[in-house]
This record gives sequence, C-alpha cells and structure tokens, in this order.
Amino acid sequence: MPKIINVSLTGRSGSGKGTQADLLMERFKGMFYLSTGDLFRDLAKQDTATSHKIQKVLAEGGLPFDDIAVALMIHNIAYNVKEEQGILFDGVTRRVSEAEIVDGFMDWLGRRDNTFHILIDVSRDEAYDRLSKRRICKECGNLIPWVGEFKDLKVCDKCKGELMTRPDDIPDAINNRLDYFEEKVVQTIDYYEKQGRLIKINGEQSIEDVFKDILKALGEK
Ligand SMILES: [Zn+2]
Repeated sequence: MPKIINVSLTGRSGSGKGTQADLLMERFKGMFYLSTGDLFRDLAKQDTATSHKIQKVLAEGGLPFDDIAVALMIHNIAYNVKEEQGILFDGVTRRVSEAEIVDGFMDWLGRRDNTFHILIDVSRDEAYDRLSKRRICKECGNLIPWVGEFKDLKVCDKCKGELMTRPDDIPDAINNRLDYFEEKVVQTIDYYEKQGRLIKINGEQSIEDVFKDILKALGEK
C-alpha cells in the first residue's frame, strides 16, 4: 500500500498557500482537497434554512455558527475519503477549538502521525507588500502573485489580457485579512507548535524552493 500523507497548510493571506496547495494536488494525485471556504460556498448553493443564513452571512458579513466549519469538514471526510486517500487541508482549522476536534478526529482515524502541519511563514510586511502589489487579469481573472518572475509580467501569462489591481486589495481590506490571521489563526499555529508538531517553511523564497522545502518536510524527494 502506498504511503498516505495528510497535509494541513496554513499561512498568512499572501503567503502563497494556494499556489503550494495546487502543486501538492498535482504531485500527490488523488489527494482529497478540503477548504472551508469551498465548503461554505457549496453549502450556500443549497436550498435549506442553514444555506439561506449562510448566504446572508457571506453577502453581508457576520459570522457563521462557530462549529459549522468543523461539522462540514468531518462530514466531508466521513462521506468521501477512501482508505488509501490522503487529505489536503487548505488553511482550515482557525480556532483552537476547531483544531482540537479535527485533530482528535484524525487521531481516531489513525492518521495523527502521518498528518503534517505546515506553516508557510512570511512576515506581515512581506504579506502586505505581496497583497497590495499582486494583480489580476481583466479578461480571465487569473491572479498574478507578486513573487519572482511574475513581478515582470506586463500582460496575463495565460491569455495576454490586461492586468489590474484586484478591487478588494485595498489597504483596509488587506489589513483586515492580516489582522484575522494575527487574532485567530496564530492561536491554532501555537497549538501545534507547543506540541512540537508544527513545520515552519520559509515562505520568502521562490515558489519552487518553498515547494522543495515542503516535499523535504514530508520525507519526499
Ligand atoms: Zn488572462
């Protein structure tokens, strides 16, 4: 049986977490991808009392009921993940109470020891810089990160469309996203760090080097 690897990726907005998640999905074919953002968007498409409430929260701000995220995650794992399938958690456990439940569930599944908690570490200043300077294609919506050779792009690398700043990448919105990380996510990171289970990867390198370091941490070449 091939080795099963479960990965939980965390990092500030702008850390390149999404890019690394894509690379991991490409590398470990068949891995089950789990992001709470996607779970909430899926739920919002249903026609139930809870979905209507979620639609309202997504449109007007406010908070979903605390434990919905964890309930959706466990439900999804329970109904979908096969015996031989790894799981990629894309920045999902944000509060310590969530981390404890999901961690306990993974332990119960016998997956605690092959679950890697990875923090893609970039400073707040670097994250701010990347978020305020990254661009989006006006034509196809391709998001161009502000790292490495992407900084030199004059037009979209997919469709040659014109590039612009994303409308919600304004200072207040960026600071809100970064504050959220400081206020909530850091607690979860501490939870794993205190147990000596946190793997810190230097996120202030090229995309390729970050990925290499992640593979090394997973015991891959
Ligand atoms: Zn484009």
